[in-house]
Amino acid sequence: MSEAKYARVAVPVPLYGLFDYRLEKHHRPVSVGCRVQVPFGRKSLTGLVMALNPSSSFAADKIKTVDKVIDEQPVLPEAQLKLLQWAADYYHHPIGEVLFTALPNLLKQGQSTQVGGEIIWQLTTTGDIFNPDELKRAPKQAGLLKLLQQMKAPASVEHLNAIIDNWRPAMQALDSKQLVTRHELPCLNMDLSKAIPAPTLHDEQQQAVSAIRQSLDQFNAFLLQGITGSGKTEVYLSLVDTVIKGGHQALILVPEISLTPQLTRRFQQRLGVPIAALHSGLNDRQRLCAWTLAAENKVQVVIGTRSALFTPMPHLKLIIIDEEHDSSLKQQEGFRYNARDLAMVAAKNANIPIVLGSATPSLESLNNALKGQYHYLKLTRRASIARPPKIELLNICNRPVEHGISDILYDRIKQHIEQQGQVLLFLNRRGYAPLLMCHACGWTTECPRCDAHMTLHHHNSRLQCHHCGHERQAPSVCPDCGHKELFSPGAGTERIEQALTALFPAIAISRIDRDTTRRKGELNDKLVKAQSGESRILIGTQMLAKGHDFPNVTLVGILNTDQGLFSADFRGTEHMAQLIIQVAGRAGRAEKPGEVLIQTHHPDHPLLQTLLHQGYEGFAQAALAERKQASFPPFAHLVVLRTEAGRKDVCMDFLQEARNTLLPLSSSAINIYGPLPAPMEKRAGRYRAQLILQSSERKALHPVLKQWLPGLSKQKSANRVRWSLDIDPQDMY
Ligand code: ADP
Ligand code: ZN
Ligand code: ZN
Repeated sequence: MSEAKYARVAVPVPLYGLFDYRLEKHHRPVSVGCRVQVPFGRKSLTGLVMALNPSSSFAADKIKTVDKVIDEQPVLPEAQLKLLQWAADYYHHPIGEVLFTALPNLLKQGQSTQVGGEIIWQLTTTGDIFNPDELKRAPKQAGLLKLLQQMKAPASVEHLNAIIDNWRPAMQALDSKQLVTRHELPCLNMDLSKAIPAPTLHDEQQQAVSAIRQSLDQFNAFLLQGITGSGKTEVYLSLVDTVIKGGHQALILVPEISLTPQLTRRFQQRLGVPIAALHSGLNDRQRLCAWTLAAENKVQVVIGTRSALFTPMPHLKLIIIDEEHDSSLKQQEGFRYNARDLAMVAAKNANIPIVLGSATPSLESLNNALKGQYHYLKLTRRASIARPPKIELLNICNRPVEHGISDILYDRIKQHIEQQGQVLLFLNRRGYAPLLMCHACGWTTECPRCDAHMTLHHHNSRLQCHHCGHERQAPSVCPDCGHKELFSPGAGTERIEQALTALFPAIAISRIDRDTTRRKGELNDKLVKAQSGESRILIGTQMLAKGHDFPNVTLVGILNTDQGLFSADFRGTEHMAQLIIQVAGRAGRAEKPGEVLIQTHHPDHPLLQTLLHQGYEGFAQAALAERKQASFPPFAHLVVLRTEAGRKDVCMDFLQEARNTLLPLSSSAINIYGPLPAPMEKRAGRYRAQLILQSSERKALHPVLKQWLPGLSKQKSANRVRWSLDIDPQDMY
């Protein structure tokens, strides 16, 4: 590398391509994957070296010089660079943005990879009983001492910064008087609770484990399908145990941040090794710490949400994707990647096995398993003594429904409560009611910025748009005609909670949705009370459907199924079926048998019938047949060019021009639909339209995109719209 005079650098800007910079003798030696500080336009940016060359094809007088080489060692090793380069190509996203999505914030900002733990200040034994009044001549010190004494706990720097200006000199003075001491916490919880012994695996688990174990030295994809409670997590634990005993690393991706603490604890207790949990709740320092420890192989197990996939793990031997069907594995903005699909590429590159686990696999993965591309492993029984729940459709046509609950469902709730059961009601809609309407003229609470209604929130009498956040006070009379009678059709979780509180005043009811779990710790508190059985009726949105174990639940009610049956999106029914099965799986996990009631106006709907009588697999087969018929994924590949602008015609013009340039590049293997308005045409005050490309062959699609894309930003309307390309979209909104 000594002759390298030029560094080819990726910078975090929305431009395709790399930029050459000159290296001088005074720079420290640099290798690919290191960060450099470079001048870019009028700014100085942190960039990443992608290649080192003896010459450059750029004009010599145009090439600028690297300001500074930041790293001695690459922050992104070759394996990670290869994966990210692949992702940039596949998703047609600028490489600089892709790389910088992968890096922890502190590294993006050019800071050192060596990060210490959190600093805390603590009273000494003298400080604990020292009378602050004796520091009268130093009021700031006295105040600080008093504060620490009142807190009865160490104070973090962050906390001190938030409540006191310029506290450091006073703290230092207290330190020199030996009233306080400074501590650096380890950046990851390394104290290991004693390992809990593993249960003896049952036959199906054993078969799954040995199939995967045999493949630890090569790439293989496994689909592990098992209903909730069938023991998938025990399979993961057993495999991860094998991997770490061999001195290697394992990565577990989960869709939800709320799942990571529970799962992390379970892994930690079972395996008895430190575990890096990477999720959006970490601060920058903790995130970098976990990243560094994994990169240095000091942590062997990483559990995290989708971006954890980018953590360098030099001894990676196994990737597990839990709840692989979950759409939050796909990033829906900026660099729109699917972590499940990228993990497949990472496993191939590293030549290691990957396990996709779910009770309700995505149709994509199921199709791959049915084709034999993935090894199909099934856990058909529940691991514990619990029996599978009984699922029943409640036909509510012509029946009284009050506040979203039919009379028959109400009777069953009452019955379960009287028999000391626990009830879980699932409703995919928060707030009190989805809209407010005038009884005289039909006026409704339309959002001024979206093609949507504003939801009524009762507790603060406000209307809120759940799409753009727009809010205002709910009117008490009709703004159009002055009529006094406004009513609110439909029900959300808040309304169900109110109605049930009135009906069961002596019963502990807990609502779990975004509105009731905003404060830190609130979700956890509610989950603990739900799990212990202290809360007798649980009402919740999909937050409740995912991964949590409620062993005492005896009755599950699913309230607004019909919404999913008639969704405009091609994945609508798939998501609904997954939700029903996932929610149903919450019931009767312990010794109490469970009962699941689905409230619907369409009990004869073929989809519900198939789901009920043939289970998720029967449903999935039927849904796959439908997708094949309609040429939808996984039988076709989709790409959406989305646009957004203040005016509709600007979007349409841009897309029309894009279509015109696409046509001569395209082939008969590609179908083009649009320009079309998006299903929700107006959102947050902006118009949205799209162009859809569809092909049964991925190979036909990608070269065309590559040729087409550079021209888009040069179109005449390009600076008036925001546009983005979505490869393998999760939805069409
Ligand atoms: P899943 O991940 O499929 O929902 P889990 O692995 O969490 O299932 O298992 C469900 C419950 O059954 C857990 O409490 C787990 O400890 C228990 N369990 C799993 N496998 C066994 C087994 N082989 N023997 C005894 N208990 C088991
Ligand atoms: Zn009116
Ligand atoms: Zn809105």
